[in-house]
Amino acid sequence: LEVLGAPIINESYEWKGVVLVFHDITELKNLEQTRKDFVANVSHELRTPITSIRGFSETLLDGAMQDEALREQFINIILKESQRLQSLIHDLLELSKLEKEEFQLNIEPISIRAMINDIIPIVEQQADEKEITIHTHFEEDVLMEGDAARLKQVVMNLLGNAIHYSHPRGSVTVSIKKHQADVHIMVEDNGVGIPEEEVPRIFERFYRVDKARSRNSGGTGLGLAIVKHIVEAHHGTIKVDSVYEKGTTFHIFIPMKFTLN
Ligand code: ADP
Repeated sequence: LEVLGAPIINESYEWKGVVLVFHDITELKNLEQTRKDFVANVSHELRTPITSIRGFSETLLDGAMQDEALREQFINIILKESQRLQSLIHDLLELSKLEKEEFQLNIEPISIRAMINDIIPIVEQQADEKEITIHTHFEEDVLMEGDAARLKQVVMNLLGNAIHYSHPRGSVTVSIKKHQADVHIMVEDNGVGIPEEEVPRIFERFYRVDKARSRNSGGTGLGLAIVKHIVEAHHGTIKVDSVYEKGTTFHIFIPMKFTLN
């Protein structure tokens, strides 16, 4: 709380009292704290792969290069860690673009069926590796207005997570239907699920339920923060239902007709 005070004095210069102005600066302080936490998180996330790249390169130069098996193992780690840095920087730039004041969606007509059919082959390889089946359910095609590239990114991200957090031979379902003036997109998996107390936090930047698991797979912890931004830019909402060790369903509702503000 910030307090400013000023005396009240009448025309005869008599003291009449005092005006106190209370400013609630909690929100400002919270914002400032969030910004600081974010910078600290970014630094930490960048430092981890760099430390590892540096360490393994030095060990190689110190002699590990002579051992063929070690050499290959270390070079693979260096490659994986540099890919992680690349995704991290990509997602950070993406997030900062979305947060810019002047950010604009590129609104165009979209057929949701066509969009999903474009996406499936892209995630199929990832699904095949774990023998995961992807099902699609359309009651009817939904024609809507939106930023096709951004919405694709949303569905790809949710599908990617659904596959990633599924057990081998699991199944993932994408369903599309109309719900009043919205399109309702559902991405469902029967994978690891999210503990109830962690559910409210998964849209936070860098929040991961299992840090090691997410990092090892190249996850940046920024995917869902990006997804939420894009959905909200379309004046939509995103919800998640999850049962730990049973599975997770993400629901997105987006107005079919785009309106400014
Ligand atoms: P990540 O790069 O770690 O996947 P995201 O922002 O996409 O980052 O997701 C944040 C966290 O939410 C993940 O680390 C994971 O713990 C959890 N999560 C997201 N999708 C699922 C899912 N389908 N099933 C279980 N957990 C999930």
